[in-house]
Amino acid sequence: MKYINSPISTINFKNRQIFIKRDDLLDIDFSGNKARKFYYFLKHDFKGIKKIISFGSAQANSLYSLSVLAKIKNVKLDFYVSHIATYLKENLQGNYKEALNNGANIIELNQNELSTQEYIENHILKSEEEYIYIEEGGRVKEAEYGIQILANEINKWAKENKKENLKVFLPSGTGTTALFLQKHLNHEVITCACVGDEEYLKKQFLQLNCDETQHPTILKNKKKYHFGKLYKEFYEIQLELLKDTNIEFDLLYDSLGWLNLISSDYFQDDDIIYIHQGGILGNESMIKRYINKYL
Ligand SMILES: *Cc1c(COP(=O)(O)O)cnc(C)c1O
Repeated sequence: MKYINSPISTINFKNRQIFIKRDDLLDIDFSGNKARKFYYFLKHDFKGIKKIISFGSAQANSLYSLSVLAKIKNVKLDFYVSHIATYLKENLQGNYKEALNNGANIIELNQNELSTQEYIENHILKSEEEYIYIEEGGRVKEAEYGIQILANEINKWAKENKKENLKVFLPSGTGTTALFLQKHLNHEVITCACVGDEEYLKKQFLQLNCDETQHPTILKNKKKYHFGKLYKEFYEIQLELLKDTNIEFDLLYDSLGWLNLISSDYFQDDDIIYIHQGGILGNESMIKRYINKYL
């Protein structure tokens, strides 16, 4: 990786100074949130392992990151998806395209009886040998290894810069990153639910740690959002951020993250470091969809 310790930028947005932890810059190929979560696998020997097995959406950031990991480790990647849109097959782009370029084996299940996860666990894993199985979005205990390193980088920076009351903000999917960060940070972690609602996120936290006092703070969404759907305000704030800060943020997680952050009291009162978790490769197809719908 290019950086061991990703840089921190200072930006001004909505008349506030905010610090940005640039995990989007970790490395050209292996960056962002998934790089932190898969760092354990990058650093450890794949002795005897021939294949990585995982699943999720055909556009997922984890698909691309795992394809990079498989390439570096010289193993195969079998990535199961429930369905691939015809449009995507005919117009290769984003994470899907780059993962294919890296040699990923993307397998469309097209069956309705079981969830993709159940199908893999009931039918696929039994007949496979010498594999590593990684749940959707990197929801694995090994993720703690790389996230702890991220926490240590922030702890050290906060201490050196005398930011005792620093709050750390990041938007969540499975909540794995936010939860492990809170475990290792000396600062409050604030997040919001981008996949599912607050209840779903709370449940995810409870699965990883039953002690609620160690959970991150969850900001409530102003309305119900469905992951992957288009919302005009998501596109607008992404453009505004790009214009005002010169940093490109992702449209699936960051847009909702920023909308929640700027309308919270934390934004007015505290020193905030926002973790940029990458995911920019997915913007290409999202921007095309936004332009089709709104322009
Ligand atoms: C995967 C991902 C997330 C969500 O991370 P969780 O640990 O699942 O909460 C957020 N932002 C980006 C850009 C991601 O790729």
